[in-house]
Amino acid sequence: MRCWAEININNLYSNIDEIKKIVTKDKIIAVIKADAYGHGMLEICNALIKKGIKNFAVATSDEALKIKELHDDIMVLILGPVENEYMDLIADKNIYFMVTDFEEIEYLEKTGKEKGKTTDVFIKIDTGMGRVGFQESETEKLNEILKNASHINPIGIFSHFSSSDSDKDYTKLQESKFKAMCEKISSGISSIKYRHLHNSFGTLKFQDSIEDFVRVGIILYGGVTDEETAPYKFKPVMSLFAKISYIKTLKEDSFISYGNTYKGKAGKTYATVSIGYADGVRRDLSNKGYVFYKGYKCEIVGRVCMDQLIILLPEELKNEAKKGDVVEFFGENISVVEVADLCNTISYEILCGISQRVPRIYVEK
Ligand SMILES: *Cc1c(COP(=O)(O)O)cnc(C)c1O
Repeated sequence: MRCWAEININNLYSNIDEIKKIVTKDKIIAVIKADAYGHGMLEICNALIKKGIKNFAVATSDEALKIKELHDDIMVLILGPVENEYMDLIADKNIYFMVTDFEEIEYLEKTGKEKGKTTDVFIKIDTGMGRVGFQESETEKLNEILKNASHINPIGIFSHFSSSDSDKDYTKLQESKFKAMCEKISSGISSIKYRHLHNSFGTLKFQDSIEDFVRVGIILYGGVTDEETAPYKFKPVMSLFAKISYIKTLKEDSFISYGNTYKGKAGKTYATVSIGYADGVRRDLSNKGYVFYKGYKCEIVGRVCMDQLIILLPEELKNEAKKGDVVEFFGENISVVEVADLCNTISYEILCGISQRVPRIYVEK
């Protein structure tokens, strides 16, 4: 294997135990969208079911159908928009989805009448994320319409924090808006039983306002640092590894990789590693990133190629390095957050950007 992502299920379990210091496991909705943030949706779901988790959230209809097909006994909620023509199928499979505007309610009312059926839905409200969901100005009309609806059955309301990791005041504002909007929308409607608002950082930092569920993603996978999550500690579930395929000590100064952005030096030793941007190692890391190898952080030199890249070996490793040795890109020794920072992005994008070409190896250790 030239490169692989090791997925440590014990670390996943340890992260669940950490979340259980805040909420009971029945309140956890494990977010497994985007192939469980790159970790493998089916395997992560199986592992979490073994740990007693029963509620899951995905982003798309296809993800929901795939997971519900395998596990009919779990709760599955779709967090992204569902196209009208999918709603029927999704509801028939007992998958929950959200309505975000009046047009969707009208559609469900109309088709429900034709088919003689009633559809359970969650109401999505916009408390400040500004993406999808009913606006504050629409709450009264929404309450009226829901009270008179006969083919949709609203069972819950949810919303989403935009900045629970970074802006306390704004998050507080979203909390109070959520409460107020929920009261107005559910007034006189007894079917609305569930409310949820908290993502990972909301769960850690705004525990007082947790209601029926929390929807946790990134902390499950440990794509965070201890500083961000103190006093809680989350362990990285994914480690990305690749093998050294070639080693050379330069006889004279010469360029390394595309575009001649790095000139190697005579006497220095370089190793070529079998991983590249097609695997998810971002090109932003050219001449900037590093890998962990035998206790050293080794610089990535020159441009990251599609399938390979080159590192500079420290003097101490010159004679020790061998073809076939394994280097770590992120995991136990280099945080995925560090890598994301170097790429001007967030750990989420790095994790779900590890491509399908990279085998996932599941371990419990
Ligand atoms: C992705 C997502 C989450 C999970 O967010 P994390 O920051 O990974 O915990 C929760 N709720 C919604 C609506 C989402 O789209």
